Amino acid sequence: MSDQLPPCPECSESYTYVNGALFVCPMCGHEWNPEDGATEDAQVAVIRDAVGNVLVDGDDVTVVKDLKVKGAGGGTVKVGTKVRGIRLIEDGVGDHDIDANVPGFGRIRLKSSVVKKA
Ligand SMILES: [Zn+2]
Repeated sequence: MSDQLPPCPECSESYTYVNGALFVCPMCGHEWNPEDGATEDAQVAVIRDAVGNVLVDGDDVTVVKDLKVKGAGGGTVKVGTKVRGIRLIEDGVGDHDIDANVPGFGRIRLKSSVVKKA
């Protein structure tokens, strides 16, 4: 079968179908462009800090700008605040892709673009 479509890069199921210019996986809903490097099957989302360092689970980071925190109590995480042992969120909401335990605030989600590897 020369017209067999590649398996889904997200869930590896092979029920791929074509929708316009995109491939679609009905199992997980993933859509992708077949022009985007189909061979990069080990592609992992890389999360970078404000200056482009790659962040990994357990990194210590420093907040690079004042951050308003919503929710209970609210407040501001001050620039320069150190956060130890971050967790990366691969399916983060929007661009809040770091789970951080911030002193005085507890566990909150931060954008990788507002921290710098310590
Ligand atoms: Zn899938």
